[in-house]
Amino acid sequence: MDRVSPVPVLDRLARPLRDLRVSVTDRCNFRCRYCMPRERFGADHAFLPRAELLDFDEITRLVTIFARLGVVKVRLTGGEPLVRRDLPTLVAAVAAVPGIEDVAMTTNASLLAPLAADLRAAGLSRLTVSLDTLDPQRFTTVADVAIPLAQVLAGIDAARSAGFRPLKINAVLKRGVNEDDVEPLVEYAREHGDVIRFIEYMDVGTTNGWNGAEVVPAAEVLARVSARHPVEPLEPTYPGEVAARYRFLDGQGELGLIGSVTRPFCRSCTRARLTAVGELYTCLFAARGRDVRGLLRGGATDEQLLQAIGGVWAARTDRYSELRAQGHDPSPRAEMSYLGG
Ligand code: SAM
Ligand code: SF4
Ligand code: SF4
Repeated sequence: MDRVSPVPVLDRLARPLRDLRVSVTDRCNFRCRYCMPRERFGADHAFLPRAELLDFDEITRLVTIFARLGVVKVRLTGGEPLVRRDLPTLVAAVAAVPGIEDVAMTTNASLLAPLAADLRAAGLSRLTVSLDTLDPQRFTTVADVAIPLAQVLAGIDAARSAGFRPLKINAVLKRGVNEDDVEPLVEYAREHGDVIRFIEYMDVGTTNGWNGAEVVPAAEVLARVSARHPVEPLEPTYPGEVAARYRFLDGQGELGLIGSVTRPFCRSCTRARLTAVGELYTCLFAARGRDVRGLLRGGATDEQLLQAIGGVWAARTDRYSELRAQGHDPSPRAEMSYLGG
């Protein structure tokens, strides 16, 4: 798509705005321990009322503004994006925005089987699925749901059949919980030609009781994986890529390591986040965001929105993960399920 009058904007650390994560809902049908622990997100948890959520037209209008500021990639996330109805309609609208080159989604895959083909046809370019274990019992403990692992695996199969290849599989590792899933997940991904990416458990939000001792460092995962399947590093596919990428020397598949804790990548972070209620966050660890929905529903023109959003980005100084590595801990901060991971 052609870009319409781009006004690229740099933040205070000279980082451009290139990627936008849009959370379409704060709800989820899972209760992963590291993200939405059931004791904090139980039956009495007040999720956002429907009227509070940005509707598809509002999201699309905002994406159009973001594209004018330099965004080329949009990722739909949540909560679980597929609990929101008619997602293929939103995908089609976002994919048609001038300047948007890539529309992706991150999902737990449990609701994917009946939707994968429609999402593909609507213009979804890439799909990332989250899968932390291949052990059915451990899955029940980690995701804390009655939905069986088999339903997730069926969703993943449907995604491959719909043409999402290579599929990216994200696994969050937690010490003492699923580190011995590294090898089975690598074998599973290699067998299907997927990209397997291991993510360090992060201290997002305040409800997951994060403890640094539970992080399995990317370097440890690399040593474990390459002991069985030798790898070599790959060049980043684009500036600011968060995963360190490796190629298996036998040519079968690819490994990614996202070392958010041990290898912070703030200097190349070009990502903004829009919550389901239209708040703009410039960092995953920010305490609060800028209310864009208020402007939108208050009748702001496109130019006013452009000025407001561009102004927020231009003032950005965030580099939380770097500061964490130096022992700094600014709290409170928003929850991952609210912000969109
Ligand atoms: N529900 C969808 C899913 O799970 O794929 C999308 C939203 S989820 C918040 C996005 C990603 O964030 C998932 O891959 C999840 O594993 C990851 N995530 C959630 N909490 C995390 C944490 N504390 N540390 C690292 N990754 C986390
Ligand atoms: Fe839901 Fe995704 Fe969070 Fe798990 S990681 S609770 S699937 S939003
Ligand atoms: Fe970007 Fe904030 Fe994460 Fe650093 S900590 S990489 S600035 S989101």
